[in-house]
Amino acid sequence: MSLLIKKFGGTSVGDINKIKKIAQQIIESREIGHDIVIVVSAMGDSTDNLSELAKSISKNPSKRDFDMLLSTGEQVTIALLSIALNEFGVPAISMTGSQVGIITESVHGKARILDIKTERIKDYINQGFVVIVAGFQGAYLSHNGSMEITTLGRGGSDTSAVALATALYAESCEIYTDVCGVLTTDPRIVKNAKLLERISCEEMLELASVGASVLHPRAVEIARNYGTKLYVKSSEKEQPGTLLESEIEPLKLNRGGLELTKTVNSLEILQNQVVIALSNLPDQPGIAAEIFEKLSQAKINVDLIIQATHEETRNDITFTVAEENLQEAIKQCDLIIDELGGTYSFTQNMSKLSIQGAGIMGRPSVSAELFETLSQANINVHLIATSEIKVSCVIDIRDINKAIRFVSDKFKLNSNQIYMNPSKKIRKEEPEVRGIALDKNQVQVSFRNLPDKPGVAASICLSLAESNLIFDTIVQSERSSKVNKKDISLTMSKEDRNNADETFASILKKLPGSRIEDGPSIAKVSAVGSGMAFKVGTAGKIFRALANQKINIEMIATSEIRTSCIVLEKDCDIAVKAIHDFFELDK
Ligand code: ASP
Ligand code: MG
Repeated sequence: MSLLIKKFGGTSVGDINKIKKIAQQIIESREIGHDIVIVVSAMGDSTDNLSELAKSISKNPSKRDFDMLLSTGEQVTIALLSIALNEFGVPAISMTGSQVGIITESVHGKARILDIKTERIKDYINQGFVVIVAGFQGAYLSHNGSMEITTLGRGGSDTSAVALATALYAESCEIYTDVCGVLTTDPRIVKNAKLLERISCEEMLELASVGASVLHPRAVEIARNYGTKLYVKSSEKEQPGTLLESEIEPLKLNRGGLELTKTVNSLEILQNQVVIALSNLPDQPGIAAEIFEKLSQAKINVDLIIQATHEETRNDITFTVAEENLQEAIKQCDLIIDELGGTYSFTQNMSKLSIQGAGIMGRPSVSAELFETLSQANINVHLIATSEIKVSCVIDIRDINKAIRFVSDKFKLNSNQIYMNPSKKIRKEEPEVRGIALDKNQVQVSFRNLPDKPGVAASICLSLAESNLIFDTIVQSERSSKVNKKDISLTMSKEDRNNADETFASILKKLPGSRIEDGPSIAKVSAVGSGMAFKVGTAGKIFRALANQKINIEMIATSEIRTSCIVLEKDCDIAVKAIHDFFELDK
């Protein structure tokens, strides 16, 4: 018999009637002949309510007590659902995380799952029980031998469910929620956003700012690593929902390290790249579109694209192409500057180095560590571009061996996790844009006139990370106009910017001649699609969609399957809709 893991979120178990309804639903799938393990969240807002109770007593409750408290929410639901199933005549048994044997790290508040004991659950399944497991919680054995309760972080019951499905080698894991699945974009912005039948785990992670509310990113990471079949479905309507697929070779189940505790999973090197810098272009809507349409018409596949610096009304755009495309690219650049003005230069013998891992998400310290490691190796970083789960930079080809040694050492990567010039499986059927994410309430900050030498990016990122200031979309471009100077731009939340003055001042003290410029309120619009890496011209289309709406692009950062444009906050909804329409995502 096939084993299914079904997880029901807080709203789906929000009251007694809903719990009874879910019990009926479970009975129906059991009658079809499936073995079933259920994972549930706390009812409705109860986790928030519990948290408020604690905070009404103390601003800073002990993390152990806080986990003890929050974990009770899920205990209520497992008991009630089990009572309902038994009342309907179906044998069911409720189990807490520690009763199952969900073993986590010995930290409170955001513990990762290390192992799940499966004997007890299997035993109950064999006896014909529906097993109901409390999500969001686990336990570890303390040195004095007591089981300590932990929680996995808010939204963590998705992670419990996928981890259970993985450890039990279940046929699939179904996450039932109050939306019908994963949509092409936020339906509050684009009314005709469409349900996706499928999406790759990687795309889902890159869509984090819309996707994370649907599915806990750590759950996606587990499904990706182990190839666990994962669905997101509506708990209201009978619908197929969205299937999340892994595109990597599944790993062997790592008992004792189920949720890989590493932040970085792979290192990729692309050799024989040329960096082409167009500088002093007019800063107005349509320029990026014009350039990348030209390159696309000439069938040149552009890899990294970076645009960050404005000098009054002028702008620089830098991109990389493979060495073999250089002659053709030069021809196009001549045409571009004839038409738009400006100048260009190119640098050969470059290579792109990228680290990747879902653990990079929300942890700016990882990029800081990468830059610091490169600077310790005395390697100069020419360009930087980041996305949710990837940090890429361009370095000299002659530094590659040293870079591999230092970076793999730092992030403890073995030779299987290092990819030299990976040949991509061409998956023509994959769409170049599958979905669009929007990240609002950000500001852009630029560090101007920085010395172009190893360690500068590292020291900026480290100082910010040490002060707990979260930044992303870091972009560094070289300026051909000013010798030995570079600019670094990044985005951060308005709130963090307000707390950053002191840190910025101490950074500038170490970099004489440099200054900081605050940009306007902006938003990040990211188009994501696995097909993007193989199709020529996707970026040009994205920029065209924005140009058609007369939207100026403040900053561009791309990674393999994602193109992010920073636009003014006032333009962001129109920008999302424009790209959605341009790629006909509603069809
Ligand atoms: N109840 C927990 C929370 O509200 C876990 C979850 O719902 O996934 O964050
Ligand atoms: Mg959730």
